[in-house]
Amino acid sequence: MTSADFTPVQGLHHLTVMASDPQRNLDFYTQMLGQRLVKVTVNFDDPGTYHFYYGDLTGKPGTIMTHFPWPDAKRGVRGNGEVVAAAYSAPKQSLEFWRKRLGELSPQESVRFGDTVLRLEDPDGTWVELVFDAEGEVSPVDIWPDSPVPAKHALRGFHSVTAWVRETAAVRDLLVSQLGFSEAAQEADAEGQRTRFMGSGQHVGLYVDAVERPGQPRGSFGAGSVHHVALRTRDDAEQQAYLQSLTAADYAPTPVQDRQYFHSIYFREPNGVLFEIATDAPGFADDEAVDELGKHLKLPQWYEA
Ligand code: ZN
Repeated sequence: MTSADFTPVQGLHHLTVMASDPQRNLDFYTQMLGQRLVKVTVNFDDPGTYHFYYGDLTGKPGTIMTHFPWPDAKRGVRGNGEVVAAAYSAPKQSLEFWRKRLGELSPQESVRFGDTVLRLEDPDGTWVELVFDAEGEVSPVDIWPDSPVPAKHALRGFHSVTAWVRETAAVRDLLVSQLGFSEAAQEADAEGQRTRFMGSGQHVGLYVDAVERPGQPRGSFGAGSVHHVALRTRDDAEQQAYLQSLTAADYAPTPVQDRQYFHSIYFREPNGVLFEIATDAPGFADDEAVDELGKHLKLPQWYEA
């Protein structure tokens, strides 16, 4: 099967990161960045650990950052074979607002493919970036009205993720040949040769950047490390098509897992980056009303006991 046989992947669905102190994590994402806590549940693979989901008002695909806080977790070390940065879109005219707001965190400022980028570390050292781009004005996210960030400066969902890799060709094979991304741009920056791949969706979470760093060490997993990046697919049928084609291409994807709010398959590309393909449906309002999102600990039926 070739990618022409089914609908290309739209872009980013969510990103999952390991954290340490839960309260610092909550404060940073809700109070500093103005993201809404849309769901509090437990790690379905390790039910003694919380799982926080942050996003826009309803937790739309392309806005969701999830964290597993392990209070005493040792810090990870960034390296090849993992996603090292998560970037949000922000309105271009909000650059001064965010420079001031983030000032004490000393964000690093750079220009990437023509857009200004502010990069800072979250409390566990995860690189969080704000990209001031055209999508930051039009991205159709549902702004959280109770956010401490004024609506006109609100972050507009994900812009991109950056993965560090030994070899970009392997990422290209996966994203372009298997999943229907297109190669959008290339430039050299301080980290290495950056190649941008673009999903087929619109406005939110369109880009995966691979930075080639041959000869550099692999990352070591710990607090602050991105565990995986999830890409969006519309429904179970599309996901089945990917499951079959990725199996045929030797990516050895897992069987479909029920994550309650979406259905998922997982696989690694040859550099070691862990990808997931998650369905847009059923979404976070599946077991709570939109007004109530994030206010109660929600457990899947199989853990209620
Ligand atoms: Zn996931």
